[in-house]
Parts: sequence; structure tokens; C-alpha cells
Amino acid sequence: MIAGNAPVGALDVPTLLVVAICVTAVLGLFLLLAWLQQRSVRALAWWGAAYLIGAVSLATWSAPGAALEVPSEIPAMLILIACGMIWNGVRLFHGRRVLRLANVAGATIWLAGTRLPFFAAHEDGRIALGAVVVAVYTFCIALEFWRDRRQSLRSRVGAILVPSLHAGIFLTPLVIRVCLPDAPAQRWLVIFALETIIYAVGTAFILMLMVKDHYVHIYRSAANSDPLTGLLNRRGFVESARSLCKHVGGQKPIALLMFDIDHFKSVNDRFGHAVGDEVLRLFAQVTNANLRVNDVVARLGGEEFAAIVPADRGQATSIAERVRLAFETAGVVVAGHRIGATVSIGVALSDTPVANIEALLLRADAALYEAKAAGRNCVVVAGREPAPPIAGREVAAGTVVPFPGRKSAA
Ligand code: GH3
Ligand code: MG
Ligand code: MG
Repeated sequence: MIAGNAPVGALDVPTLLVVAICVTAVLGLFLLLAWLQQRSVRALAWWGAAYLIGAVSLATWSAPGAALEVPSEIPAMLILIACGMIWNGVRLFHGRRVLRLANVAGATIWLAGTRLPFFAAHEDGRIALGAVVVAVYTFCIALEFWRDRRQSLRSRVGAILVPSLHAGIFLTPLVIRVCLPDAPAQRWLVIFALETIIYAVGTAFILMLMVKDHYVHIYRSAANSDPLTGLLNRRGFVESARSLCKHVGGQKPIALLMFDIDHFKSVNDRFGHAVGDEVLRLFAQVTNANLRVNDVVARLGGEEFAAIVPADRGQATSIAERVRLAFETAGVVVAGHRIGATVSIGVALSDTPVANIEALLLRADAALYEAKAAGRNCVVVAGREPAPPIAGREVAAGTVVPFPGRKSAA
């Protein structure tokens, strides 16, 4: 029971606990409201419900008439269930499986522990056991954030620190018990109540920030990607190509490969637009499978694609040849039709750090034009000199990479 407790210093335990209950309950409602507005983020519902359960637990525990220093089993178990739900919410948010048993595992372990003769006889032992279970849950939450490699370490630090700090402070009763066996219970109750308020507000803030980041990521991806193939679109390509060039920083030459599917109009005319779309998707898969994860691939529009890779002339030529051959093989039969789809490829290289992606695109386009003129289904590497303007498509001579069985010029 809290009523009648003497204030500890300027901080009054009952008032602090009432504030903790109100703050937790309001944040729970706030998170549930956020979930109602963004139903797709189911983690918000888990977190909102966990906060409300936490508030009910605190209220039951500190209600007049209840024992303060020996919490009844129900409020303690509710707090542990709430911790499990926050953990599961974080798992769900990061696309991991919900571990339903984990919601009640902590409460069950704690309950079983309190039945042991030692814990049954020592109330502090029961509190300490509960604190250890909470600490384990919060370390698990911190671990989920740590595993989230999509975010930079800097943006993960806050999300990792808050639960870790919470877990640490929840272990305070243990430390106080060991270091100061005669310390009054109120002292750690003040720390506990204060910490609960800070943690509840801090965590809710971090959770909402995560949801906001999630949406920013979704909208940015949508603005930069091509819905048909899932590749980057032209805008995404230019952005990603720039950051790749910056990352490479002139340590390696940069190669830009430009692809154009051969006689694609005739594929549409003969087999229909849907089959044409299937050919485009197939090409996206083939390029993805034949380039490295860090290379940038995009659909620039229609049946034109581009890739930018850190590679010298020899490497770029063999990458382009590999994609050409893989597509020729995969394109024989598409969606049950004998199509025989092929691709022509123009390659342009930059030995210096790339300042202008558009200029490199023009050179690769000029080489691609030569590949078309040379009979299609082949690779042409642009000469070293920058190509003249595209007007009239009169370009410097490139190098046609020969391969067996190339088609004759159309
Ligand atoms: P070339 O070998 O010279 O490249 O000839 P081509 O027929 O491939 O080139 P052309 O530019 O004449 O035709 C491109 C066609 O691509 C015309 C257009 O209808 C089709 N196309 C553009 N976007 C899409 C799309 O999203 N889906 C489908 N199925 N077809 C598309
Ligand atoms: Mg074209
Ligand atoms: Mg074409």
C-alpha cells in the first residue's frame, strides 16, 4: 500500500507512481490510436496493448489496500507479460516471427520461481527475480534492434541504449540489496517509478520514430523504383549511381552498362503486352542474378535498362557478356512461348571519379546504338574519348565484342 508512505527527499513515491500510471496509460492509448490510423504496422497494436497492461499492473500494485513491498502475483505477472509483448512487437516490426510463448514465458518462470522455498521466504528475492526477468526481456529487445542491419549503427544506438538502460536500472534492487542491505525499500521505489516514466516516454518516442522512418523508407523506395520489375527507376538509378561513385571514390574505374531488349515491339505485337511484361521481369531477374549485390541496376524506361558497376574495361566486358548470354539462354521460352528474346548492350567506362552520370549514360547509349547496328544481341564498349553529342547518333567507333552465333544486322 502506498498511502501513508513518507516522501523520500523531495520525491513522493505515491505521486510518482500515479504519474507513472497515467503516463503509461496515455502512451498506450496513443500507440493504439496510431495503430488505428496505420493498421499495416501491427507492432503498434502490440506496443499499445503492452503499455495499457503495464498501466493496469502498476495501478493494481499501488492501489490502496494492496501490499506495496510484496507485490501480489497478478500485477507482477502482468508487467512481465507486457515486457514480452513489447519484445514481440519489436520482432514483428522487423519482420520476424511472433513468439507467442515468449509473452507468458517470463511470467511463468517468475511464478514457478516464487514457489521455490528460498523465494517463497524472501520478498526481496521475489522482486529481484522479477527484475532479472524484466532485464532479460529488455536485453532481448535491445538485441532485436542490434540485429536490424538495415539501419545505420548511429540510428540504432538510441533504440539499443534505452532498453539496455532500462534493463540495467531494473536490476537496481539486486545491487542495492547486495551493496546496501539496510537501504529502505522506498529508495529503489523512487528510482523505479522515475525510471518507468522516463523509459515509457523514451520508448514510445523511439517506437514512433521507427514507424516514421519505416514510412519514409517505403515512400522513398516507391518514388525510386519501377513497379513492374522491382528495380530502381531512372531517378533512383541516378541517385544510387552517384552514391556508388562517391563510395568508390576513384579507387576503381566505373563502368556503365546500358541494355536494350532486341525487337521488343515485335514481342508485344506477336505475343501480347502481358508476355512483353514477362520478358521485362525476366530480364530484371537475369541482371540481378548476374551482378553483385552492391552494383546498381535500373529500368530506365520501356525495354531499356542500365547498370553501374565498379569494374575495369575487361571486367565490364565480361559482366556484360555474361548478362547477354544468360538472357539469351533464359529468353528462349518465356511464359510458355518460344520467343528467343535477346539483348544488346553498350558499355562506357570512366577512369576518373564520375562527375556526370548523364554524360556516361550518353556514351553508353552511343555504344548501344552501335551494338544495334552491328546486328543486335552483342556487346559494344565505347571508345575512351567522350562521345560527341547524340544528335544524329553519329558516334565514335566502339569495340564490338564478338561471340559465336550472333545474329546478322537487322
Ligand atoms: P530494337 O531491337 O531496335 O530495340 O527494337 P525494339 O522493338 O525493341 O524497339 P522499339 O523502341 O521500337 O520498341 C520498344 C517497345 O517497347 C515499344 C513499346 O510498346 C514497348 N514497351 C514500352 N514499355 C513497355 C512496357 O512496360 N511493357 C511492355 N510490354 N512493352 C513496353
Ligand atoms: Mg529501346
Ligand atoms: Mg529494343
